[in-house]
Formats: sequence, structure tokens, C-alpha cells
Amino acid sequence: LLQLAAPLGVFGWVYSSLKQGLVDMEKMFELLRVDREVADKPGAQPLQVRGGEVAFENIRFGYDPRREILHGVSFRVPAGKTLAIVGPTGAGKSTISRLLFRFYDAADGRVTIDGQDVRDVTQTSVRGAIGIVPQDTVLFNDTIYYNIAYGRPGATKEAIEHAARMAEIHDFVMTLPDGYETKVGERGLKLSGGEKQRVAIARALLKDPPIMLFDEATSALDTATERGIQANLRAASSGRTTLIIAHRLSTVIDADEIVVLEKGRVAERGTFDQLRAADGIFATMWAKQQEQQNLAAQSAAPGFQL
Ligand code: ATP
Repeated sequence: LLQLAAPLGVFGWVYSSLKQGLVDMEKMFELLRVDREVADKPGAQPLQVRGGEVAFENIRFGYDPRREILHGVSFRVPAGKTLAIVGPTGAGKSTISRLLFRFYDAADGRVTIDGQDVRDVTQTSVRGAIGIVPQDTVLFNDTIYYNIAYGRPGATKEAIEHAARMAEIHDFVMTLPDGYETKVGERGLKLSGGEKQRVAIARALLKDPPIMLFDEATSALDTATERGIQANLRAASSGRTTLIIAHRLSTVIDADEIVVLEKGRVAERGTFDQLRAADGIFATMWAKQQEQQNLAAQSAAPGFQL
């Protein structure tokens, strides 16, 4: 009975905390991970964030030790700069974000933030330093205000509006008759993909994290939404170290560096212009994506018939 009561107690706590809006996303992740992969070192101290430089040094990792997924990946994102990670499906892009968040530990190599190995500091402080804009934002059946405030329970109204302004969703909210009190989610106002993403950005910005992790959605978008998302990204990354796990190559044009991951190895790296000129994997991916977009634009054009 005791064995059963303990996990139920955790769920009960999560449920009542959720209702009160007291629980933080990372805390929930932590609580729900019953068999935690990693634990804090005894006496681990909080991360001391300075600029928020992120480095992966020769990282080897496999979810199953018999199947290595990352075969010695290295990159460095200087404080305040933006790194985009692109590559075919299954290359290991999301795995990199999980290692940065320290859901797992690498078998070899180090992940550091401002020179500190993430294994030496508390997980709470690592996760507290990173704002995540996930692929699919979960909106609660509650007000827009609540949905943004969720990023930092107890935040003031001013802080919430400031985050909403930076995420460029404030003006939209003001056009709604009930403003921030508008109910969203399944039983409320349905937000578009781009609007949902901005709520997620506002939520992440509310934490004012030195590091931003942007996991882009895979779904195809029209050009206007795509441009909007690029603007969202700029708002989210300004003044922060940013990692973009990119599926659409147009979002990586402005990145300070692009890393092309293939089968768990860095196959190419450079700026957008350098990689296009190099005529390798990235240039091929770019050409293919442009072709698909042109086809999509043609089929959407007025008068087009199948
Ligand atoms: P995509 O573009 O499709 O999102 P990705 O580059 O992000 O792909 P990852 O999600 O990092 O790829 O996956 C890399 C490899 O690791 C894949 O072969 C996948 O099957 C494997 N993998 C991912 N998550 C797990 C997991 N939790 N347990 C075991 N294997 C996993």
C-alpha cells in the first residue's frame, strides 16, 4: 500500500498544484519522471550564470548503450549568439536539446554552461536557466493571462504584459473583447499555430532565461506564417544565447552558426551563405525545400486546378 500511496501522492500534489497554478513545467517534468535518469551530485551547487555560453565537447550518447546516437558532437554557442541545428530526421537534433536540459547524461564528453559541467550543478538551476519554446505548446483551458503566467507562477501583471509585448502577442490580445481574460484552449478561443507559439514565447520570456531553446514544429506553414515565426524568433532570442532545432531552413538564415547534423555527427558547419556556397548537404536540403515551397505556392495560386 505504501508503494502505491507514494506515487499517488505525487500525482495528487501535481493535480492540486496545477489547479492553483503553482507548478512550473520543469518541476512537473521532474516529478513525473519516476525512474529518473540523472540525479544531482551530493552537495551540487547552483549554476552560476554569466553570459550563458553553451558548449558541447565531444559528446557521445545513446539512449541504449548498445546503440550510440551521437558520435562525438562538438559545438560552442558564445553568450548571446544563435546556433541552429539542422539535419535529416533521426539525426539526433532533439537528443541534443534533451542533453542540454540534462534529461540524460552523455556517455563521454561534457556539456557546459558558462564553463560549468551540467553534471556538477543542480538540475533545477540548469533548467531554470533555459527557456523552452516546444514544438507543440500545450494551452490550458484557462485565460490567456493564466497561460502566460504559467511560465513564472506569481509574476506581476506588468511582467506578464511586458513578456507578451516582447513576444508580439500583446496587440493581438488587446483586440479581443475580454483581453487577457479571454479563455483559450479546447473550450475557448482557438489560437492559430503562430499565436500559440507566441504565447509559448511569452511564457518562456517571463522566466527571463539567459538561454533559449527553440524546438521548431515540423508542420508545413504558409509563407506569411513563416515570416511571422521568424519575427517571433528574433523577439525571443534577442540578447540571449539561442539554440534552434530547425526543421524549416528559412528560420536559420540569420543564425550566427548553423550545424548540420547527419547520423549523429556534425557533417557541416558555417553561416547560411557559407553553407550554401559549400554545395554540400545543406545546399541540397535548401534547394529541395525551395522547390517544395514553389510547388506549394503554385498549387495555392488562384485558378489552379488539379
Ligand atoms: P526529427 O527531425 O525527426 O525530430 P531528430 O534529429 O530530432 O529527428 P532525435 O529525436 O534526436 O532525432 O532521435 C535520434 C535517434 O534517437 C533516433 O534514431 C531515435 O529513434 C532515437 N531516440 C530518440 N528518442 C529516444 C528515446 N527516448 N529512446 C530511445 N531512442 C530514442
